Amino acid sequence: MREETDQALRAMKELCKLIADGGLRDRERAEKDMDDMISRDYEPYFSGNAALCLLAECQRCGGCCREERSIAVSIEDCRRIARHMGLSQKRFMMGYTLPHELNRARVGSARMLKKAGGEACPFFDPLLPGCKVHPVKPQVCRAALHLSKMNLLLCEEEKKIGAIPGCPADAALREQLAQFRRNLDRNPAARQELEALFSSHKPEVELFLLLLRLKGLEIYFGGDRAERLARRLGLKRMPEDGELRDGAMLYAAALSYGCLSLKTELKEEKT
Ligand code: SF4
Ligand code: SF4
Repeated sequence: MREETDQALRAMKELCKLIADGGLRDRERAEKDMDDMISRDYEPYFSGNAALCLLAECQRCGGCCREERSIAVSIEDCRRIARHMGLSQKRFMMGYTLPHELNRARVGSARMLKKAGGEACPFFDPLLPGCKVHPVKPQVCRAALHLSKMNLLLCEEEKKIGAIPGCPADAALREQLAQFRRNLDRNPAARQELEALFSSHKPEVELFLLLLRLKGLEIYFGGDRAERLARRLGLKRMPEDGELRDGAMLYAAALSYGCLSLKTELKEEKT
């Protein structure tokens, strides 16, 4: 346990290098913009799910690729996937996407992948296994399933982060967290240490929590908006997923163990 905590603290300290000379700036305004994008009412579920999304390793089983009725793609998604496939953005959009079925006023410039009803996503290949564009897959697929609107609403309603049915990546992560909790059960000192860590107001912990939420917004809304917020905050760049993972594991463990001082109680069913 000590090793995991030390490693996460070291990773959090490393994050301070992302702050440009002169320190964080315009934090209040940036946080207000973040609150406007995702209401604070979704905390701690939003940050908790951002942590789980960073930690869950999609096993490319195709479960969600077969079941999703439609897959929305933003212009940013189209640009990224087209580049990956060696196509122009226009050619990709003409060949692989359709106008979104919902009103433009609600979805903006988002489009949908071309896909016949009842069929799997055109990028799903059972022989690979899984997604042919996995490293650059659409934002909604990257966010799946933790940072989907439906999951956030469920978390808020049930006041807990529930398991994602049928997703082997989520199941594997739950087992890792359950193991973490068993270790905490055997080690009250480590439990207290974890509790103290997230209420310590250490600058590196506060920065980590800010960046975890920002990463959640990047996953939920796409990179462009998160990049703008990062620049406004005076960050040199957005943190990479890997730079947040050690802290995310500790945060997810603390949340699932219920050893954070939270406005609302957040617990998983203990196994
Ligand atoms: S169900 Fe889970 S593991 Fe399977 S493709 Fe979807 S996100 Fe990945
Ligand atoms: S783009 Fe990839 S991850 Fe998304 S639904 Fe299609 S095959 Fe699955």
